[in-house]
Amino acid sequence: MCCWEELLNDSLAPATCTLCPRRCQAARISGERGFCGATDRLRVARVALHHWEEPPISGCQGSGTVFFSNCGLRCVYCQNYQISLDGYGTEISTQRLARAFLELAGQGAHNINLVTATQYSLEVMEAVQVARSMGLKIPVIWNSSGYENVETIMRLADTVDAWLMDFRYCSAALAERYSQASDYPSVAAAALLAAVQQSGPYTLDSSGLMTSGVLVRFLLLPGLLSDTIACVDQVFSLVGNSVCYSLLSQYTPPAGITERYPELAGQVSAWDYDLLIDHVLGLGITDSFMQEEGSSSADFIPAFDLAGVVNQSVQ
Ligand code: SF4
Repeated sequence: MCCWEELLNDSLAPATCTLCPRRCQAARISGERGFCGATDRLRVARVALHHWEEPPISGCQGSGTVFFSNCGLRCVYCQNYQISLDGYGTEISTQRLARAFLELAGQGAHNINLVTATQYSLEVMEAVQVARSMGLKIPVIWNSSGYENVETIMRLADTVDAWLMDFRYCSAALAERYSQASDYPSVAAAALLAAVQQSGPYTLDSSGLMTSGVLVRFLLLPGLLSDTIACVDQVFSLVGNSVCYSLLSQYTPPAGITERYPELAGQVSAWDYDLLIDHVLGLGITDSFMQEEGSSSADFIPAFDLAGVVNQSVQ
């Protein structure tokens, strides 16, 4: 009989990686790091219930969130820079990841929330498959920057039930300045269409929890209201009311941003955020979320302390 534990401990990284739109072709299988910072080793920084997502995600018991190390988009203002830019985390096996999913479900998680997992999508597909064979029943949600290859999204069809997708820029110049990704606007538009095609309309169960579809997030940055409005308009023109719109005012300037990007050193103005809300309401959007005043605080950034990552019995 085939032993899945042996198989799962093998690296699943592709010979030359094209999993994300960077298509940097890093030889991860040989230990080379990609643009994202990942090698062939699966790395995770935190596995825990998370209570600060939108209500259909966190519910009353929390979202079973897995924060992966590294990121293909690498925004200069990332609030999770310790893991996304600095690569903090520890190596685990795919088998351990599958067990972590089951532990989250056992703690009462409403869903499995995979934060920036693209660079490990092959390992995640394997882990979800194993966890489901061992009884995982809750929805699996892919929590993404929106910078995704359509092929990778389609490959995830049997793995992912619902999507949390950012739509960060409509301006290629801004995407280049802050994420070195001038192709972001066109890539994110194609990715959104693929995710909607794959998972269908935004759907809640009888308890108000998200079971399928796409929730699109718009992170307002200081002084960039016009581009965020353009993003909302772009998404509405592409997919209308088939998705839910979430307007984020939580931007918190990361340490060290002032020197290189002084325009991002402050917080979002309440005036700008109110104008964004007014714009969304004026479009006739039916499903949307906004954040309460005071959501911009480092207190809402999770501690990346390897909580829940390593289990004494199986790593
Ligand atoms: S996931 Fe990482 S290694 Fe793969 S193409 Fe993207 S940046 Fe390169």
